[in-house]
Amino acid sequence: MPEGAPDLGTMNVVVCVKQIPDPADPGALDPTTKTLKRDGKLILDESDSYGVEMALQLVAAAGGGEVSLVSMAPNNEVSGIRTALAMGAASAILVSDPALKGTDALGTAKVLAAAIARKSPDLVIAATESSDGYTGTVPAQIAEILGLPSVTFAKSVAIEGGVAKVQRQTEAGYDEVECPLPALVSVTAGVVEPRYPSFKGIMAAKSKPVDMLTVADLGIDAGRVGWAGGGQEIVDIVAAPARQAGEKFEDDGTAHERIIAFLENLKIL
Ligand SMILES: Cc1cc2nc3c(=O)[nH]c(=O)nc-3n(C[C@H](O)[C@H](O)[C@H](O)COP(=O)(O)OP(=O)(O)OC[C@H]3O[C@@H](n4cnc5c(N)ncnc54)[C@H](O)[C@@H]3O)c2cc1C
Repeated sequence: MPEGAPDLGTMNVVVCVKQIPDPADPGALDPTTKTLKRDGKLILDESDSYGVEMALQLVAAAGGGEVSLVSMAPNNEVSGIRTALAMGAASAILVSDPALKGTDALGTAKVLAAAIARKSPDLVIAATESSDGYTGTVPAQIAEILGLPSVTFAKSVAIEGGVAKVQRQTEAGYDEVECPLPALVSVTAGVVEPRYPSFKGIMAAKSKPVDMLTVADLGIDAGRVGWAGGGQEIVDIVAAPARQAGEKFEDDGTAHERIIAFLENLKIL
């Protein structure tokens, strides 16, 4: 085991869980701020359900420890957090503060990093990218702020002797990557199959602790986050282009070859 590595008879994992507008009820953009309206009910981003499941499995494999959650969301929203607690996480920190309106990805990372630091975890898990904003930059920024090794695009994670062993998805296959703990790993969809919360889990989640914090509670100057602290500005928003029609292959006896070439080009074969 590397010097200074945690004793992994127990394993404490923090999972970043983003709460997003329900994709089944497409949200609207605020025309003034050009950001997504988030004033309705928010749900657990499906991308993060994989991280919660991965964390629960790693803690079970270690034989002890705890999964806790951190989330930053407006209006003291906890609906998505409760879903992750119902899956089996033990507790959560929610950072919610009107001063966070307009916070960009780096500001989000600063807030989440400050909340994560309170837990001193052995491992931090996030999704590779969220389903609504998806800059895909928050996990690596958190790792940099906390001075942790960052392993991204994990399709498989195992912990052995204080070392994270990760299969890192690449275009052509995967790399095998190892790093000492504590570390931050961002996981892809499909890393594990998320469990459905049981009725017992849903009832238990209602009484699990959720620590509600403001930026001041985290010792963050409100001028470093929100519109005031943003290093980015959304200058324009445009509708996504309509999907192009697909390519049709008429079978003249060579269609199978063209389909194989097409799939090879996409690196599916
Ligand atoms: C100028 C500007 C202003 C903005 N103003 C607002 C605003 O007012 N309100 C608003 O809601 N958004 C706002 N946004 C968008 C917001 O900054 C991003 O949605 C947010 O920073 C997360 O980035 P992402 O979704 O790209 O994360 P990604 O990097 O794609 O997320 C990867 C993973 O990081 C973790 N993660 C990311 N965000 C969170 C979170 N909030 N809580 C817990 N885990 C998380 C999750 O595990 C997630 O799957 C603004 C963006 C800009 C550029």
